Amino acid sequence: MTAPDASHINRNFKSRVIEALEDQELRNNFRGAMDFLMQKRAAMFPDPEDLEALRHRGEQIRNRCLQQLPELLEKLESQCVNNGIRVHWAETAEQANNIILGIMKDHQATRMIKGKSMASEEIGLNHFLADHDIEALESDMGEYIVQLDHSTPSHIIMPAIHKNKQQIARLFHEKIPGIDYTEDVDQLIGTGRKVLRQKFFEADVGLSGVNFAIAETGTLCLVENEGNGRMSTTVPPVHIALCGIEKVVESLTDVPPLYRLLTRSATGQAITTYFNMISGPRKPDELDGPKEVHLVLLDNGRSRMYADKQLQQTLRCIRCGACMNHCPVYTKIGGHAYGSTYPGPIGQVVSPQIWGLDKAGSITQACSLNGACRDACPVNIPLPNLIRRLRHEGNIDSADSQTLGRGSLRKPVESLIWKFWTYLNSSPLWYRLTLWGATRFRNLMPSSIGPWTRYRSAPRPAEKSLHELVKAHQSQSPSHVIKPTKQETK
Ligand code: SF4
Repeated sequence: MTAPDASHINRNFKSRVIEALEDQELRNNFRGAMDFLMQKRAAMFPDPEDLEALRHRGEQIRNRCLQQLPELLEKLESQCVNNGIRVHWAETAEQANNIILGIMKDHQATRMIKGKSMASEEIGLNHFLADHDIEALESDMGEYIVQLDHSTPSHIIMPAIHKNKQQIARLFHEKIPGIDYTEDVDQLIGTGRKVLRQKFFEADVGLSGVNFAIAETGTLCLVENEGNGRMSTTVPPVHIALCGIEKVVESLTDVPPLYRLLTRSATGQAITTYFNMISGPRKPDELDGPKEVHLVLLDNGRSRMYADKQLQQTLRCIRCGACMNHCPVYTKIGGHAYGSTYPGPIGQVVSPQIWGLDKAGSITQACSLNGACRDACPVNIPLPNLIRRLRHEGNIDSADSQTLGRGSLRKPVESLIWKFWTYLNSSPLWYRLTLWGATRFRNLMPSSIGPWTRYRSAPRPAEKSLHELVKAHQSQSPSHVIKPTKQETK
């Protein structure tokens, strides 16, 4: 079994964007949801100075942990083993899938219940298990909705944010036997919970993600609101935690500041309803909890990011989703248009680094470099700089970089146009001639110039160039020309 193929990300990117832009209902759903989330976050950070101090602290903690990542991972492993947790290392998505399948097979398990885990989306776990006749059921309400719809999450925190309550009501009515159509949100949630409750008891294995893995104590922290994370990790006899290697923090004291930043930035909550700390399987004198706990530490390209000083900053991410909520492009096109498990600004940085620029580099174009994502990021990741870097590497195969698929997005025609443009702008004679021609023959500018004019009007040169206007102005009123004072000329 191979890793999930990501080549569709580049292949159909444009058509997905066009489709999303033409879907007014989708755009309304995103606009409303993002406005709501931005307001909630803003209300949580009323003092800009406090916010900056907290972001700075978050950045420092993540940097310190990343600087000692290899040692912390070893420490985490030994502490987890001391606690009775079995630790597995997965270099690739295939390895992670096979490790999880192996654990399932060891227990003759055929049913898995899942808490929210973007890492499991990243490795395509559900499809992989389905190919081996294993049912993997999502228990996070948003994930459950997208699974019921045979779709994928459109946001890393709120997977079904692209759907409004009418669409969810229709989906439940069509897909869950015996359910009447209702738009009552409480009733809809109640229906989902009723279906899932039974599944927790029937599952052989529970799988969850990990928000923070504490090296000092070998503790896995899970942040959630629905209680499904706690059910998935305690009701089935086996718990598998799938954790990106960057999630490790040094000590317990690192968690509260990051947790504060995470919940406030993600959903505008001071704290979440549940904060789970898992430190091992059930002990002989305990009444509940799984009999076995496995931790799968996933690399899948993270070591490559780690090896590059600039791109390493990607690994500071605490997956809060605030960069998406604040991104004007994400808000217009929604998460599915990116075609990647990780959409929005963080997706534009993470996806090409995991799957390669040749497969996922096109999505770096979905950015106006306005910087809203950087300003919202609770750990100060310079997302626009990283996006620019990856865009550049998509066109230039730099020997200093390890990013997969470097130079694969280079188009000969585009390169030729840029070379011509550079020449025009670096030769004064040709520059003046071009300006003269563009202004004198401005009426010949076609009203349609391909995709550029699909959503904009064609640019029309002015009647006179700026140079000509300034010259004319100076000749008419020389007294208005600002001359440097003697002081300035010294
Ligand atoms: S890049 Fe920053 S804002 Fe975006 S998800 Fe990660 S931590 Fe949150």
